[in-house]
Amino acid sequence: MPSYDALLRDLREKTPEIDVPGLERELGKVALIDCREVEENAQGVIPGTVWIPRGKLEQRIEKAVPQKDAPVVIYCASGNRSLFAQRSLVELGYTNVRSLAGGFSGWKRAGLAFEMPSALRPDQQSRYSRHTMLPEVGIAGQSKLLAAKVACIGAGGLGSPASMYLAAAGVGTLGMIDDDVVDASNLQRQILHGTDRLQIAKTESAERTLKNLNPDVVVDKHRVRLTSANAIEILGRYDVIIDGADNFPTRYLVNDVALRLGKPVVHAAIFRFEGQITVFPANGSPCYRCLYPEPPPPEDAPSCAEAGVLGVLPGTLGVLQATEAIKLLLGLGETLAGRLVVYDALKTRFRELKLRRDPACPTCGDGVDRSQIQLVDYDQFCAGPRR
Ligand SMILES: [Zn+2]
Repeated sequence: MPSYDALLRDLREKTPEIDVPGLERELGKVALIDCREVEENAQGVIPGTVWIPRGKLEQRIEKAVPQKDAPVVIYCASGNRSLFAQRSLVELGYTNVRSLAGGFSGWKRAGLAFEMPSALRPDQQSRYSRHTMLPEVGIAGQSKLLAAKVACIGAGGLGSPASMYLAAAGVGTLGMIDDDVVDASNLQRQILHGTDRLQIAKTESAERTLKNLNPDVVVDKHRVRLTSANAIEILGRYDVIIDGADNFPTRYLVNDVALRLGKPVVHAAIFRFEGQITVFPANGSPCYRCLYPEPPPPEDAPSCAEAGVLGVLPGTLGVLQATEAIKLLLGLGETLAGRLVVYDALKTRFRELKLRRDPACPTCGDGVDRSQIQLVDYDQFCAGPRR
């Protein structure tokens, strides 16, 4: 068995390398891969770098560099680990991979410009480490979350788990919109609040819980009911809207405002043992009115006070809402746009329905000028306790 030093010497002889001045000349013309660990990546990167830690290299490289004959330069801290990484890429079929001699240290020593992937403080590096070690999130993604603003309509059953997970995830600004106070009947499901908060404004109680979970988070308290008069001004400040409203008038208003603003809405609703969730995308179609063009007449709408709901049900749906919001903010995966997922808690079954844009939809249909959508305040006909 050769020693590590002997193996390294042998590998260096066989591996094509590029030196720092050479890379400087070719910057922008090669795919540049940083194979260091998360703490090293956080110290700075060569401009234009894609970060794939060594342990994930084989798994991720084909997504980052689909063409096997593309010119690739791989680097580590000093140019040793990248020799081993280069060999792995050759084994995967890559034909033009060079290792950066001297690595990132050599680049820095030459006085060349480098970028900080972000300015995460040491306490943030530890708080968000389970995010930053995911290459799909990384430090850049975490920084995006910290800069992001999400509106939660309702600090109730859906808004509680949604906002708590978003706060824990480090979404930097949460707008909590709710005009109600905490009532004892809320506590069966609204986990933002507690027995020591009865009669306190839900926005105030939400801020206390969310700030305690994560002091990084700014909580904007909007102790109002959304109406046609304030919705554009309030929702216009946020990147993603989580609709946890318990009533039809608000859902229609949120849909119409989001279409005017071009903002994505993560919609969910719950009833007894069943919930539904979908995403109305920022391009606006399909939208809530494609699904339900007009509100049901008040006599057909179930009374929220009488209907009841399994306390844990909004937990499931609210967590899914937070998941969709994070995916939207990071541009990750496939959102629920165009798909409605219906969850039956009694049967533990998820069904998926395809949603189609209705060309005759009053708000996103053919020929509709979204900037001219008139906002409507439908009569409140569900004044029961919040779900
Ligand atoms: Zn529509």
